[in-house]
Amino acid sequence: MSADIIKGKELAHKLKEEMSKEVLFLKEQGLVPHLTVILIGDNPASKSYVNGKKKASGETGISSDVIEMGVSTSEKELLKKIQELNNDQSVHGILVQLPLPKHIDEQHVIEAISPAKDVDGFHPINIGRMITGKDTFLPCTPSGILTMLKSYDVTIEGKHAVIIGRSNIVGKPVGQLLLNENATVTYCHSKTTNLIDFTSKADILIVAVGRPNAIREEHIKEGAAVIDVGINRLEDGSLTGDVDFDAVFEKASYISPVPRGVGPMTITMLLQNTIKAAKGLSKSER
Ligand code: NAD
Repeated sequence: MSADIIKGKELAHKLKEEMSKEVLFLKEQGLVPHLTVILIGDNPASKSYVNGKKKASGETGISSDVIEMGVSTSEKELLKKIQELNNDQSVHGILVQLPLPKHIDEQHVIEAISPAKDVDGFHPINIGRMITGKDTFLPCTPSGILTMLKSYDVTIEGKHAVIIGRSNIVGKPVGQLLLNENATVTYCHSKTTNLIDFTSKADILIVAVGRPNAIREEHIKEGAAVIDVGINRLEDGSLTGDVDFDAVFEKASYISPVPRGVGPMTITMLLQNTIKAAKGLSKSER
């Protein structure tokens, strides 16, 4: 047996084409979805993520701008800028690129963004809405993973989903989304003993650890669907995930690759949230 490859990049491309049509339609009605990204400092990885978001926005016709602020920007200055953007009717989505310099409290920043413009889906109000199964901005990576599973007709209801990793941006919310879809969910993390006891019973295995080859053939149940969220840069500069792809490919029924897997879907979900924010705001005319 060998797995079907869940091609995130192809799926993202298809979704972006559909979104372009929707954006065109909105523009004809006089609504131009707009995303503002705030970048603090000059972290090269953050810069590259921000460039990717700007490029993808442009490809779908969403307008965007990047506000670059120096590394010594105070928390007060940043919160003031966010307040201005909250009050700016032409801005539909606000994203502050994380991580932030140590002197700025990330949580204060997340909570300062209006929940109606929180396209990252990190505001506690939106997290609460997600947990209670209400319509909201879903966090981008978890929502991308769910979209990948659904697009490939992976059955979720009644299945055992095992999540490895419990970060607030990936592990915890993706487990919640799968629970909302009626999976039985188990969380594993750095303090889990006998990881293999859990992973080997997983029908759906989501791996978000950040270590190459953390998951190997022996961890997998025959026929499982495996989603690799990890992004690890090797010494030769290439990117790899957390899963030993070649070995697991032979045993799983579905597997997502790295690169061209979850990564492109994350940005695509950000665009989807921006369009949603624009439509929501237009309705309430705020
Ligand atoms: P993190 O880096 O904050 O934490 C890692 C998690 O792995 C923790 O919850 C920890 O408990 C768990 N862990 C560590 N060692 C473990 C072990 N031996 N056994 C079981 N669990 C273990 O997590 P994150 O921010 O969710 O990132 C995880 C990975 O996903 C990173 O490689 C990151 O770059 C990547 N990532 C990718 C995307 C994307 O769009 N593709 C988005 C976010 C994160």
